[in-house]
Amino acid sequence: MRQNKKLGQCFLKDKNIVKKAINAANINKNDIVLEIGLGKGILTKELAKRCKKVIVIELDKKLEIFWDEIIKEYHNIEIIWNDALKVNLKELGFNKVVANLPYQISSPVTFKLLDCDFEVAVLMYQYEFAKRMGAPSGTKEYGRLSVSVQYRAVVDYVCKVSPSAFSPKPKVDSAIVKLTKKNEPIHNIDNWEFFDGFNRALFQHRNKNTKKALIHSAHEINMDRDKLKELLNSNEIMEFNDLLGKKVYMLSLKEIGVLCNNLYKIINKSK
Ligand code: SAM
Repeated sequence: MRQNKKLGQCFLKDKNIVKKAINAANINKNDIVLEIGLGKGILTKELAKRCKKVIVIELDKKLEIFWDEIIKEYHNIEIIWNDALKVNLKELGFNKVVANLPYQISSPVTFKLLDCDFEVAVLMYQYEFAKRMGAPSGTKEYGRLSVSVQYRAVVDYVCKVSPSAFSPKPKVDSAIVKLTKKNEPIHNIDNWEFFDGFNRALFQHRNKNTKKALIHSAHEINMDRDKLKELLNSNEIMEFNDLLGKKVYMLSLKEIGVLCNNLYKIINKSK
């Protein structure tokens, strides 16, 4: 079977990496595990041996030849032949996720997962993407991805994975990351839609000061530029002038939440 690059079909062949991923998720017989991307089933079979049930989502029906072999031996695996981005993940009832993700959907699938209830997700990403996810404020990798993910989960780096662990070899290094859903948020966000727009606006200009960044990308929070400028120069937001004067990439996660909620309040009051 010819592997489809467009579907990110770089299959794992290194069993040590499979073990590392499964150990990081601390899989046990009570777990219902979601996997995205069956491939030839190297991860699926190992998960099935250790957990109560695996639910695997796979888009490519050409992989059915491998599936047919797998189900002869394992009876605790359910497969959903569909695009993971189109499946209602909230209905599936899993408590853990382990997956060697197709890289072209890393970002949307991660945010879709972070909207679900789960304990831990152990996921393979491109190395650079993984670094951006876990980056702390003040570093050059810190950005919208870091803020959006770290608001919803604790990011732990498990290990770097070299191209030789896959067949065919991808062109770049990969990394396994463990995401643990946060019970206590860093800061309660009043409106998540506004928060996401606010972050987009900020990190389009990560090296600018925060006030300038927001004014430049006012459209991201559905504001007219002049109106936002007026609000950000008003007495209403004066107590946050220190934060507004900081460079975007120096803002901590908490500072972003505080500023976001207060701006949201002031904008709504002015309407
Ligand atoms: N788990 C296998 C392994 O570790 O060898 C396969 C991993 S491979 C990187 C990614 C898998 O995801 C491929 O089997 C590919 O066909 C599948 N895939 C790609 N896009 C998908 C999508 N949108 N929804 C579900 N599966 C997808």
